[in-house]
Amino acid sequence: MVNALLLLILAAFVVLYWCWPELQRTYWQRKYNHVALTSHEQAILKRYMPIYFKMTDVDRSKLERHIIWFLNEKRFLARDGLTLTAPMKLLIAADACLLVLNKPWPLYKNVKEILLYPSAYYAPQSTRDNAGLVSYHTSVRQGESWPGGTLVLSWHDVLQGNRLPSDGHNLVFHEFAHQLDQQTGKTTGTPALSSKAQYQKWAEVFNRAFTQLKSHVAYNIPHVIDSYGATNEAEFFAVITETFIEKPLQLKQFDPQIYQLLVDYYQFDPKAWH
Ligand SMILES: [Zn+2]
Repeated sequence: MVNALLLLILAAFVVLYWCWPELQRTYWQRKYNHVALTSHEQAILKRYMPIYFKMTDVDRSKLERHIIWFLNEKRFLARDGLTLTAPMKLLIAADACLLVLNKPWPLYKNVKEILLYPSAYYAPQSTRDNAGLVSYHTSVRQGESWPGGTLVLSWHDVLQGNRLPSDGHNLVFHEFAHQLDQQTGKTTGTPALSSKAQYQKWAEVFNRAFTQLKSHVAYNIPHVIDSYGATNEAEFFAVITETFIEKPLQLKQFDPQIYQLLVDYYQFDPKAWH
């Protein structure tokens, strides 16, 4: 009798575990179904996010649903005396949600909070030399993405990224791409993919493109992807995400294979937004 009861409880937990994402989605759909961006919020996005202006009505509406969900489910905190305003949160949410436009809720399930500084900030850093001696210093940063689900952003650089939508630099795209990468539990430049064949394809195309960028940087040859992407595989994924969305035509022309790999992963083609 006790064994049967335990089995029943165990089965209930298993069913709940498998159904939980769908139950959550239904709950959120009901909760946010009647919430919409105001015309003032839409005007802010049209002014500061050129891509929003150029999207199809279907995509824009999908992005708006994501933004509403994101603003309600993620925490924003101001740092260094910054006064956090609704338009600031709106713009960050819009940029972040664009990356996951065609992904299901929960978006960025590991992300808990976004810390916003007025501009570039000093962060403590420690380095260990070959002899094992650790030195402590500070470095200037524009943003960070921590595997625990915290992002740190400089508002000045968030705004700059949106003011120049075709220069290949957008801090929010960069840091949230790191979060997508970190969803696997590691920061390797390979986000979660759905099949073994996809991982094989990713490794082949991604590694070839990364090696090519490193060689261009080493020999000072111009490349469509910013040289910071040559730092390591994780930075390459974050930087190429910025390039993919902000310079899609140039990236496709330069390397059609990596472009298609990113279209397949992100499930959108940003060419139409330019
Ligand atoms: Zn980075």
